[in-house]
Amino acid sequence: GDINGNILPEKTENGGSKREAEKVDLAEQSLLNKLIRRSLVRNRNQVEVLQRDPTSPLYSVKTFEELRLKPELLKGVYNMGFNRPSRIQENALPMMLAQPPQNLIAQSQSGTGKTAAFSLAMLSHVNPDNKWTQCLCIAPTYELALQIGQVIEQMGALCPDVKLAYGIRGNRLERGVKLQEQIVIGTPGTVLDWCTKYKLIDPKKITMFVLDEADVMIATQGHRDQSIRIHRQLTKDCQMLLFSATFEDSVWRFAEQVVPDPNIIRLKREEETLDTIKQFYVLCREKEDKFTALCNLYGSLTIAQAMIFCHTRKMAAWLTANLTNEGHQVALLSGEMTVEQRAAVIDRFRNGKEKVLVTTNVCSRGIDVEQVSLVVNFDLPVDMDGNADNETYLHRIGRTGRFGRRGFAVNMVDSKHSMDVINQIEMHFNRRITKLDTSNLEEME
Ligand code: ADP
Repeated sequence: GDINGNILPEKTENGGSKREAEKVDLAEQSLLNKLIRRSLVRNRNQVEVLQRDPTSPLYSVKTFEELRLKPELLKGVYNMGFNRPSRIQENALPMMLAQPPQNLIAQSQSGTGKTAAFSLAMLSHVNPDNKWTQCLCIAPTYELALQIGQVIEQMGALCPDVKLAYGIRGNRLERGVKLQEQIVIGTPGTVLDWCTKYKLIDPKKITMFVLDEADVMIATQGHRDQSIRIHRQLTKDCQMLLFSATFEDSVWRFAEQVVPDPNIIRLKREEETLDTIKQFYVLCREKEDKFTALCNLYGSLTIAQAMIFCHTRKMAAWLTANLTNEGHQVALLSGEMTVEQRAAVIDRFRNGKEKVLVTTNVCSRGIDVEQVSLVVNFDLPVDMDGNADNETYLHRIGRTGRFGRRGFAVNMVDSKHSMDVINQIEMHFNRRITKLDTSNLEEME
């Protein structure tokens, strides 16, 4: 029939260096996640705890009261709207606050409460009467450091004697005059300078060291080395805490270098499944044909919200312009936007200001698709060799949790090659992808 064998998927936006670009993007992605996060990520998996001393009792708390925090700090926590500790906090908080201090490596996906946990630990740890830096926290970028700082400032709003300084580029201070702020949060380069070159911080007086987003940190060689150099300045008694969203071997090796004798807490991310998703494909000739199919689709469907994925910025822009022409209210999420602009677009979409979001791969991570009832792969997800990118496919249309809402996925097939990709995806997930005739949509109801 309609299959045209000549059309290959367009090249990725970043040409050959996609992998490199993804690395660079990690920090941005993480920031975007933070900017759009309103609440804890749901996760029903069990927390795994590996204690350094397996014979010591394992403490976990179900309430913040059990932590015996200073009243003004407890109030600060409640003022943030936190009622009880998150899954990871239940175990991590008592460990971080234990006496004598214990080291910790904690891994859980973004949005599970790590930042709130170590912010609380730092605020609880410092002695406000001592006017020198006691807690040092490093993060991969300026923007991520600021995000953590905001949490500390909010949570510590009722602890006016606890002060915070930002060790980030552009923050120039007089050499040799020691900081009075009890908490310093910054990026590895500046913090290292502050400890060594400028001597604003006495590393021997640091009693709590926090390294956040270890996976993002080591994606940049320079940051990795600077982190280790900061770590070397610290004393053996300094409490070391390391956090990461993922845990590949490289992260693990780094963590073990920075955190001796650690307790380990892990919360595996909830698996995404296609179980509640009805999957279809539509045969098309070229992009105009795909566009017509798309218009038919949501002309006849009562959809809550839809996300449409394109392979390139150019295609996404073209599609957005055409949909707008047809009178649809469409938002575009594109790689050339700043993280803040992207966060604003996602916010509007979440609040239902637009029903349709057109996007490319790079931008889509972190968007919670539970509220989206239709996902359209205007271009199919493929890797650099043109093979099915199953992981991205699952991420675009899958849902977590067994009771995730139902949804539809429609794949536009415009070549023999993309039909092959559909077949690969079917095989991989062992789920049928049914042919759909967009001029007759009864199958979808
Ligand atoms: P992570 O550092 O793992 O990405 P965060 O600490 O930033 O996670 O928390 C994710 C979101 O959940 C934030 O909006 C934060 O304010 C909120 N949050 C954190 N801990 C709690 C809690 N115990 N109760 C309710 N919300 C929380």
